[in-house]
Amino acid sequence: MNNLTINCQLSTVNSNQRIALMSCCAPCSAGAIKELAAGGRDFIVLFYNPNIFPRAEYDRRLDEQIKLCEKLGVKFAFTNYDHEKWLAAVKGHEQAPEHGSRCELCFRMRLAYGAKWAKQNGYDKITSVFGVSAHKDNNQVLRAANDAAKNEYVNIDFPYAPEPDSYRQKYCGCEFSETYR
Ligand code: SF4
Repeated sequence: MNNLTINCQLSTVNSNQRIALMSCCAPCSAGAIKELAAGGRDFIVLFYNPNIFPRAEYDRRLDEQIKLCEKLGVKFAFTNYDHEKWLAAVKGHEQAPEHGSRCELCFRMRLAYGAKWAKQNGYDKITSVFGVSAHKDNNQVLRAANDAAKNEYVNIDFPYAPEPDSYRQKYCGCEFSETYR
């Protein structure tokens, strides 16, 4: 692994940099949003999760994310739901166990999109909460970031601190995450 993937505290990230925080769901992002807001950072929450299935679950997680951002008074952006594109990105790896090659491709796809989105929308860096949950492997997220967004990604050590009333899903997101563990 090369130079990118060193865990860091928010205080070590240049305060002039505008940050796009990639979020997979409200519970995982609450701690990060509060930390960025408390640090007076210029940031936006970006919800790009074409991996989530079915559509009703995607809508529910997006609604929760919007509700949280509105409650905390922070900017957010989201994109069209394109699950077909995600399926194409993980093709051939559907049956890999969680934390395996399917997840690596999934992270890569989303982070590559986030880096491109940030550039197009005036943000200097991206970060994410993809590895915040105890169920995820942050080293895998970092490997994917190294491949997909090497110069844009900053790895900030965010806490997992969900709001007590937020909806917490029981599986990671895709249709394969329940079956191939
Ligand atoms: S289990 Fe989660 S991280 Fe892995 S491929 Fe499915 S949605 Fe992506």
